[in-house]
Amino acid sequence: MNRSCSWALIPIGFLLVAAWAQGPTQFHPDFNLFSKEQEIQLGQENAARVRKQMIVVHNPYLNEYVTRVGKRLGSSREARESGFPFTFEVVADPSLNAFALPGGPMFINTGLLRAVDNEAQLAGVMGHEMSHVILRHGTSQASQSKLIELSAVLGSQVAGGSLVGQLAQMGIGLGANSVLLKFSRSAESQADLMGSHLMAEAGYNPIEMARFFEKLNAEGGSKTPQFFSDHPNPDNREKAIEQESQKLARQAYGYETGEFPRMKVMVSAIHEPKPPARAR
Ligand SMILES: [Zn+2]
Repeated sequence: MNRSCSWALIPIGFLLVAAWAQGPTQFHPDFNLFSKEQEIQLGQENAARVRKQMIVVHNPYLNEYVTRVGKRLGSSREARESGFPFTFEVVADPSLNAFALPGGPMFINTGLLRAVDNEAQLAGVMGHEMSHVILRHGTSQASQSKLIELSAVLGSQVAGGSLVGQLAQMGIGLGANSVLLKFSRSAESQADLMGSHLMAEAGYNPIEMARFFEKLNAEGGSKTPQFFSDHPNPDNREKAIEQESQKLARQAYGYETGEFPRMKVMVSAIHEPKPPARAR
């Protein structure tokens, strides 16, 4: 290869590196003592408890609606590759919240369904929750804070034996301030950015996630919405999501199931308990 030819390759190489550097941020699950199977088992055992303690809405239309939005997000690359079996249920609770248990079970409050202005905002909260699952944030946090005790419990666990009881004795349950559901600010930032990937692939504009969190923040006033007690608001949230969405492959947003208005009518008819039921 002559000198002029190799010089000519430099700008091309630079462009390729620049294009790579502009790609979406890559995230990988952190240190974790739970196997994926244990993680799924833990989530399913806890989901069974949530179903007893909270009021699950047995409205086929609403459950089908959130499942449709959830499956669309779940068909994105990062969600698919996680291999977690995501499920979606609605619970009658007026507080603005949703939560996802390790391994995939997600519960969405009627209060959240009432509060979102459009389907992309709902997809934003769901994509954020799903990202905590994909990145195994809850069990990773538990692994790091209870390293010694967990090593013994998980290492000696008999296949098929219950995990929830043993972990509850170590203070790893779904109670207030649960390490499985109360996230650090860095976990929050990761869930925002990965959530924006899931949204974009599904055809929802990621900026709607940021808009909804801003709206929640503004509406809360002196009272912090329940969502923020488990998901602390990182700094410059909207800007970070906007910058990440610029790194994603350009695509047309605006996907909708077309069912959002009917969902709103349905949810307005759901009776919510007062004071709110709390499983946590
Ligand atoms: Zn979060």
